[in-house]
Amino acid sequence: KQLSSSEIRQMYLDFFKSKGHTVEPSASLIPVDDPSLLWINSGVATMKKYFNGSVVPKNPRLTSSQKSIRTNDIENVGKTARHHTLFEMLGNFSVGDYFKEDAIKFAWELLTSDDWFGWDPDKLYMTVYPKDADAKKFWRQVGVAEDHIVEAEDNFWDIGEGPSGPDTEIFYDRGETFNNLSADDPENYPGGENERWLEVWNIVFSQFNHEPDGSYKPLPRKNIDTGMGLERVVSIFQNAKTNFETDLFLPMIHQTEAFSGQKYNTDPKLDVSFKVIADHSRAITFAIGDGALPSNEGRGYVIRRLIRRAVVNGQKLGIDGGFLYKLVPVVGEAMKAYYPEVLKNSDYIAEVVKSEEDRFNETLTDGLTLLNELIAETKKGQQKEIDGAEAFKLYDTYGFPVELTREYAADEGIAVDEAGFEAEMQKQRDRARSARKDENAMGVQSDLLIGIKTPSEYVGYTQLHVEAARVT
Ligand code: ATP
Ligand code: MG
Ligand code: MG
Ligand code: MG
Repeated sequence: KQLSSSEIRQMYLDFFKSKGHTVEPSASLIPVDDPSLLWINSGVATMKKYFNGSVVPKNPRLTSSQKSIRTNDIENVGKTARHHTLFEMLGNFSVGDYFKEDAIKFAWELLTSDDWFGWDPDKLYMTVYPKDADAKKFWRQVGVAEDHIVEAEDNFWDIGEGPSGPDTEIFYDRGETFNNLSADDPENYPGGENERWLEVWNIVFSQFNHEPDGSYKPLPRKNIDTGMGLERVVSIFQNAKTNFETDLFLPMIHQTEAFSGQKYNTDPKLDVSFKVIADHSRAITFAIGDGALPSNEGRGYVIRRLIRRAVVNGQKLGIDGGFLYKLVPVVGEAMKAYYPEVLKNSDYIAEVVKSEEDRFNETLTDGLTLLNELIAETKKGQQKEIDGAEAFKLYDTYGFPVELTREYAADEGIAVDEAGFEAEMQKQRDRARSARKDENAMGVQSDLLIGIKTPSEYVGYTQLHVEAARVT
């Protein structure tokens, strides 16, 4: 079937509507009353209130297409065919209503019925938790062949105390053409981390409560929560080699071709830059649209980092001057069917992006020259690491997030002297602290100074977020 991304999203929601589910709108990327999360990173993240019983939904059957941001995947963008910072998670949820049998029946019908996705069952593989005999039984019942049911020890959703349970994941075999792994690669099996066996859907059976004493107590009311990556599904329908060759990303890629005079799909190294720009333009547009702003910590730092990373990749393509802000309305146009508000707010969003982009551009050229010199010197001296103090200077003087220096250097096979960098950072913190003391002594209130150059809390948040989502 040749379907647009909007039609596919709608088909998913319509299917679950036909099974008695209420369609919930895509909630803001900024979590409400949930300090454990930096960003909404899955459909279920917006439904916690229902699953923990604090709010009772009018209908225990819900479905949504939820915009989600996963910062742990930033560095995968462009390197894998399937990871984004912003993506949409299609999901169906049962709050103490239907459970394993119906969840599996629904999934199979949606995926294989000619009225719906109409996918070839031969392409589908299910991973199940080895001890979950019921999941295996229900997959067999709907007609899945024995050799398409694969046991996987890590198919258990557990975030410490609270609801937990086994899950089952659905993989689509994209075939040899999409397989850049050798036949004897250890990941070359359904359930492996790779491009051929594409993970499209995760269905979680939350049936236990993980008790404080470590035991698992069966829940009186069992829940279903699922997540299906829209971009991956679209890549299958549109027979795209990666998620990027779909109607969700091509408009930004084409616009970037026009800005740079370069052609996509001619040089794998340049393609990474095209993909990073297309991906990050979506993430920053949606994040700023939901009220986040660039800054030096938390969410703001993520936006800042994404903007800078996109700008650096623009440079790699030879683009001079501001361009990223011009992609904002392109994103708005591509997404307007389900997110009309983004296009409506695109003037404001573009203004925010432009001012951040301009600021960074002012120092970028000098910074990049310095970085390239550092890399050349490091190589000439047969060293494997960029000097920590120099890396710190790039961060401090030129606004290069150290992650960017790290990535840029890694492209050249070089690392950053992390201990040296951290030592400089500590000195900086000490200086800021004594400066603050002096100001306080003078009675000057300076919120501005506080945290300006503190290292981002990015890593901590990422870890929190990984745990909270049990991202595998
Ligand atoms: P992967 O193993 O590919 O990183 P995951 O196991 O971390 O995915 P889940 O937490 O199970 O992902 O999320 C449910 C679904 O959301 C996945 O099956 C996938 O289709 C989609 N998904 C997850 N992370 C991303 C991402 N960064 N970009 C696009 N889609 C994603
Ligand atoms: Mg998964
Ligand atoms: Mg996975
Ligand atoms: Mg993951």
